[in-house]
Amino acid sequence: MLRIRRIYDDIVPGNREILRQVRSILRTRFSQISAEEIEQIGEKLRNPFKQRFRCILFVAENLRRRVLGFAMLLHEPEIGFCYLDWISTVRGFSGGGIGSALYDRIRRETVSLKARGLFFECLPDEYEGCPEEALLKENRARLRFYERYGARPIVNTGYELPIRPEDSCMPHLVFDGLDRGKPLRRRFARQVVRAVLERKYADYCPAEYVERVVRSFKDDPVHLRPHRYVKPEAVQAGVTTGPQEQICIVINERHAIHHVHERGYVESPVRIRSILDALMPHGMFVDLPPRKFPDKHLLAVHAAEFVSYLRRACQDVDENKSLYPYVFPIRNKTRLPKEASVLSGYYCIDTFTPIHRNAYPAARRGVDCTLTAAGELLDGRRIAYALVRPPGHHAERSAFGGFCYFNNCAVAAQFLSAYGRVAILDIDYHHGNGQQQIFYQRNDVLTVSIHGHPSFAYPYFSGFADECGEGDGEGFNLNLPLPEAVDGNAYRKALQRALRRVVDFEADFLVVALGLDPAKGDPTGTWTLTGRDFQVNGRLIGDLGLSVLVIQEGGYRTRSLGPNALAFFKGLAMAALRGGDLHPSAADTLHGLILRFELAPQDDERIRSLVQITGFFSEAEIMVAQELARERMAKGPASGYHFVMAEQYGRLVGYACFGPIPGTAASYDLYWIAVHPDVQGRRLGHRLIQECERLIGESGATRIYVETSQRVQYASTHAFYENVGYHLEAVIEDFYAPGDGKAVYCKVLS
Ligand SMILES: [Zn+2]
Repeated sequence: MLRIRRIYDDIVPGNREILRQVRSILRTRFSQISAEEIEQIGEKLRNPFKQRFRCILFVAENLRRRVLGFAMLLHEPEIGFCYLDWISTVRGFSGGGIGSALYDRIRRETVSLKARGLFFECLPDEYEGCPEEALLKENRARLRFYERYGARPIVNTGYELPIRPEDSCMPHLVFDGLDRGKPLRRRFARQVVRAVLERKYADYCPAEYVERVVRSFKDDPVHLRPHRYVKPEAVQAGVTTGPQEQICIVINERHAIHHVHERGYVESPVRIRSILDALMPHGMFVDLPPRKFPDKHLLAVHAAEFVSYLRRACQDVDENKSLYPYVFPIRNKTRLPKEASVLSGYYCIDTFTPIHRNAYPAARRGVDCTLTAAGELLDGRRIAYALVRPPGHHAERSAFGGFCYFNNCAVAAQFLSAYGRVAILDIDYHHGNGQQQIFYQRNDVLTVSIHGHPSFAYPYFSGFADECGEGDGEGFNLNLPLPEAVDGNAYRKALQRALRRVVDFEADFLVVALGLDPAKGDPTGTWTLTGRDFQVNGRLIGDLGLSVLVIQEGGYRTRSLGPNALAFFKGLAMAALRGGDLHPSAADTLHGLILRFELAPQDDERIRSLVQITGFFSEAEIMVAQELARERMAKGPASGYHFVMAEQYGRLVGYACFGPIPGTAASYDLYWIAVHPDVQGRRLGHRLIQECERLIGESGATRIYVETSQRVQYASTHAFYENVGYHLEAVIEDFYAPGDGKAVYCKVLS
């Protein structure tokens, strides 16, 4: 059986083995590719924007995980096209439909990315272009294959122009319009060709060559070669749809044995059923049986004496009886209370989480479920869900409480931390005190929690904003306590803050403690999130583009548990299986970025070289930029010039300069904004301008002006300002030179 699967990274062991096989296919099938390029695949997957293409890898594998073929797709989200970089099968497997299965998948992906077309190169199938008989035969077979989908070479352009006189066998550029029936417009084709030549063949194609080829696209629409192998009526260009990658769900089938019958004990077995009933009818999920894991994983986050206490105490209590703690002795190790009912209080944090015959086996099985789901991520699955109860996030190293006995999130995070950096995001209504306490002194596991403020919400003693971690862990715990009344909008703001922290942490795995108790009407919460909110939250989390392990925590309004869980997973899958956000936030965030507002010695020189390297400014302008910095260094704020300097790992990658306009009450000029070409397209410009606006706003000013030239070279500058909320206020014709007017943009701060 053949399975087509997307490989998102080379972090998890399962994927590393797959990539090893892909590299070996590349080496044997594509002799012209350098060893270095082959090595870089892993990095390209992890850091897609480095090449200014998002790199997407699909493999065709059999059930024994043998890679039989693969395809590498490059996605350009700004221009909106996909480029098929490589597609290949292992030697001896070229038949058998592997190539068509991969190409079908590539076309489907291209459509789902909303790209306007799929492009790739194919060696010529004419004798003049390729006078070698064997190769010619192969090329013809290839072009015949693609023609069946309606994909044909672009003709009447200079794409096949040799770069060097000795070049022969120059490839055709093939266009697959994906059955949209739309012609290939010249403007779009030129953008595509420029991007491909400049980025993919940067070392090979001189700038004049790129210009020549781009300009050679004269027809509009661009012509494709007439059908040569397949009659037009026999073309099957339709894009097939197939099953999405599924989310695996591991269910604690022993959860129901843990049933506390007392009135008001809302943590009941029906919760799981409600969620399952909503999820399973959707083909999006596949359930896997839990595997058994040894105690060592549990003991890595819980104290041994605590684990053995729970095991014994649960055994010793009468069936159908609950032992509730009611005395809470000060935790003094040398004086453990003897009385069983008092001892429970020694290990518990509240009066409503009982010792119960089945609490231990149910919770222990929950740990197995969680680890099974975590193991799926290591095998390369993108989303796994441990649907377990009892929940776990209130359980600390040596304490149970809040319906929780063992901390599933912490066990999973500890397990995954051997393979990469792990962030735990707790979105239950109640503070995730358990994992906070367990990882409080560590910097390799980030803990973030959004919850009701402890002044009114359980567990009352932790979850304050100033709990940031200690020792090595300082800065690696983030609490976002929220007020009693919170709707979806207010919640999203907090979630976005939380997610930014996860991005900055550069997590490889995300563990989500999924509480459904922020929902409207939950008996233990006060917020009003709806199904739609859960879906948006899921999407925002999926946009990070990480492997996600979701672990079920609270949520007690039985009626809405199912719909809300389903909404959450729909949002999550939509984004995460696409590989994260295409534009802002996650994928293109600049890591290690530091902003500062004071100039340091040599900053005038650094600004000079930064401005110069952008290639955008004249020598006179560059001198002005440097001069402003010198002025600031000499006179300080009195100079009237203010700076925002962006450094990444000690290198100046961007800066902005602004100042009050003399003689005005509340107006500022934005004089400069420059971003290093290495990091362009990664929203540093937006970040800088936001920072300027914040500072200008804080000074009490209300209007910001930007002056720029009207020349065509500045079109992207104009688009940038319009994008960030500036409007064209005035045009002064012929200001800089005849035919070169001044455009004045303005933004009014609210
Ligand atoms: Zn809760």
